[in-house]
Amino acid sequence: MKIRMEHIVFIVILISAITANELTKYLSNEELYDYLRDVNDNYQNISHLYSIGTTTLGEELWVLMLTLAPSHESTVPNVKIVGNIHGNEPVGRELILHLIRVLLYGYVINDEEVIHLLRTTKIHFLPSANPDGFSKAVEGECNIGPGRKNANNVDLNRDFLPIFSMDDKEFHRQREIETTAIVQWMSEIHFVLSVSIHSGSLVVVYPYDEATPGDNTNGESLTDDNDIFKHLAQTYASGTKGAIYESCPESRTFENGVINGASWYSARGTMMDYNYYYHGCMELTVEVSCCKYPHPVKLMDIIDNHIPALVSVIREAHQGIKGVITCEGDRGISYIQVLGRNLTIQSTPEGEYWRILLPGRYFLQVESGSCTTEVLSVEIPRRKHDEYPSPIIMNINLRKPYEMINDDETELETMDNNDEDELNVTVKDTSYQISESAESGAHFNNTRETFSPRAESSLSSAALQYHYYSAAIPILLCSILIIRI
Ligand SMILES: [Zn+2]
Repeated sequence: MKIRMEHIVFIVILISAITANELTKYLSNEELYDYLRDVNDNYQNISHLYSIGTTTLGEELWVLMLTLAPSHESTVPNVKIVGNIHGNEPVGRELILHLIRVLLYGYVINDEEVIHLLRTTKIHFLPSANPDGFSKAVEGECNIGPGRKNANNVDLNRDFLPIFSMDDKEFHRQREIETTAIVQWMSEIHFVLSVSIHSGSLVVVYPYDEATPGDNTNGESLTDDNDIFKHLAQTYASGTKGAIYESCPESRTFENGVINGASWYSARGTMMDYNYYYHGCMELTVEVSCCKYPHPVKLMDIIDNHIPALVSVIREAHQGIKGVITCEGDRGISYIQVLGRNLTIQSTPEGEYWRILLPGRYFLQVESGSCTTEVLSVEIPRRKHDEYPSPIIMNINLRKPYEMINDDETELETMDNNDEDELNVTVKDTSYQISESAESGAHFNNTRETFSPRAESSLSSAALQYHYYSAAIPILLCSILIIRI
């Protein structure tokens, strides 16, 4: 499906002109809630307003979700946009509110891109993760001022579980109520992609923030998905119409407007690291203005530049594969890992999974219930510039071990469904097939590795290493083999 980003840019300019007078001030916490409630009241068919908890001072942490996807539809990806986790960086609040306006306007005028985005995505907006801090912050204060931390004087963006340096004390330490609310939110909703909006610089930051253990050099601390993170960061940066490439006074310059968190400065317990390491959610930290709390007259320029960038990165939730994993037809929490990447994606209780992947061929290890763990391969096709990402849909039905072998029963179908390539795969006890989608040239290999089912429900890292070497080496080096362990 070809949809041009010019649609969004046009709507942003139009809405900015209409609402310019409204942006003479930042909304207070109460006004922010009133705005979200009005949206929810007036657009009930596409919005859902909910609170994920309260702050130290009792403010509600409101989230507005927008979608046009039918409630019963499976595998619709959830994306979240979080603002104002540092209370003295409120540009994100206004940016999020304006993005909501843009999407609502696009919906009202039936804009093709907006309708498609909302039809295929659930977008959750948390405009302020730290309203207590915001109420103490000072407008016009561009540098460190009051309100960065919460009411208990804790920096919420250092309050999440660390990823490398963890001991019992740190693990069991009481987290702030705002942090706990976000953690609980993430455990209830399976987010695929996230953006956290900050101010005080101009750059897009990708994981990890926490330095690699033993590295005191401010070197890069990279995930195995660094190719994807760099793609997401550069997608955002190039969507800002050049704004992110400018440099702030007395600040270093960032090549192409992006940087790895630890190589900028190492930080422990950040929300971005927590998202990816513990939930597999790919979060970017975006710094959208040199001044932390600029005068509101500056807001419109920032909004004009960053809303198209936000939309372009939200679309990337559809890049890669998704589907439903079942065990003998039964749905349940399942696990999928791209071999060679130390991240295991856990599905929803309904077996739904999402995995952002760039074009290329990948080997996927899939585990569900007491069924036999399988290794499959998939090829993600290239897409044309400016083409809306369209995921490969791969529904996988695993089988229990020791069943009768019957090659003839192996099923492998390709279907085209609304621009998405759908592969329904039933993996039986021995098989190898290749099929090709006529629409996009997508390839699917069913290359199997049979493992003994294990009692535990999740994959330990040691087990993953074992599976990786026992599966990937024969597959990669010896072409197609069927091995039983
Ligand atoms: Zn910040």
